[in-house]
Amino acid sequence: MSSPSSPSLHSAPAPSTDQPQIVVSGIQPSGTLHLGNYFGAIRQHIELHKAFESYFFIVNYHALTTLNDAEALKKYSIDVALDYLALGFDPKQSHIFLQSDVPQVTELSWIFYTITPVSQLEKGVSFKDKVAQGLSANAGLFNYPILQAADILVYGGSRVPVGADQKQNIEICRDLAIRFNERFSPENPIFPVPEPYILEDVAVVPGVDGRKMSKSYNNTIGIFDEGKALKKKVMSIVTDSTPMEDPKDPESCNVYSLIKLFATAEKREEVAAAYRAGGYGYGHAKNELLALITAHFAEARERRHELSKDVGYVMDVLREGGKKGREQAESYMSRVREATGLITTY
Ligand code: ADP
Repeated sequence: MSSPSSPSLHSAPAPSTDQPQIVVSGIQPSGTLHLGNYFGAIRQHIELHKAFESYFFIVNYHALTTLNDAEALKKYSIDVALDYLALGFDPKQSHIFLQSDVPQVTELSWIFYTITPVSQLEKGVSFKDKVAQGLSANAGLFNYPILQAADILVYGGSRVPVGADQKQNIEICRDLAIRFNERFSPENPIFPVPEPYILEDVAVVPGVDGRKMSKSYNNTIGIFDEGKALKKKVMSIVTDSTPMEDPKDPESCNVYSLIKLFATAEKREEVAAAYRAGGYGYGHAKNELLALITAHFAEARERRHELSKDVGYVMDVLREGGKKGREQAESYMSRVREATGLITTY
């Protein structure tokens, strides 16, 4: 897969080397993975999993906060795994699995509920935003950051590659790690305090309507969209009504924001100059974007097509990943039970 414009991973703080770094991150199977997921998170996951022990989980419990359709949830869950494998995730190097295959996550969530002030969750930007966009204000959505914190800490995650929308949730997770350690294991802290890993130049990818691209907002361009469906979405990107012949500001245009993610520096300059010169319409820019998307994912699309013929293999990868996930989670949970006084008799 070509990625001429890959922003340097060095633009985010480099992982410290004085302790083993464990990279963790989750992705919701609540819809088709999109360009925001890819540039904001997945591309970094693919880079990092080769260098650091990594746990990537398909957060199907989180998806239930917005998706109540069993068949769709099953399909999207497998699709996420297929997408990762097609995009270059190597299961020999790190682990990918289903969140619900690691029951320790929900166990730890409950313990975290008991040390989280409701007032902190009430300030949740993501919760308020989703409710404002018309999603149901269910308790799962409200408590979403707690489950996310359990997801990160149950594997001893120290580095969390995410998009900028997750900043506040990672803060809540850091607070929980500190609070838990202070309260239950002050002498020998159980949890590392994780660092977010956010690349500023791809922090928030806009959707076709100009809002943050999100599965919850029905404004996405799928990583593996192709043909007419892809064209329709690209052509639907909202622009202003500046006439074709007039000069335009590339930096305030949603189409250009997306072009920037794919194009080489040279191409970016060329397109920006065409915007500023006038005589270059949004239709031209959209065609440019369409060509860039198609070329960028061409190899991965081919691989995905092949992989989709062998769902058994995908299930094997998830099963193996889940086994590793449970082992790692149990090593933390046995210490957590001991520290909190939860007796187990089995
Ligand atoms: P969604 O909002 O589409 O359901 P998820 O919650 O599954 O996305 O997020 C998965 C990862 O993708 C997270 O790290 C999130 O920060 C990142 N991400 C999601 N949307 C965007 C976006 N528009 N721009 C940048 N990163 C994003």
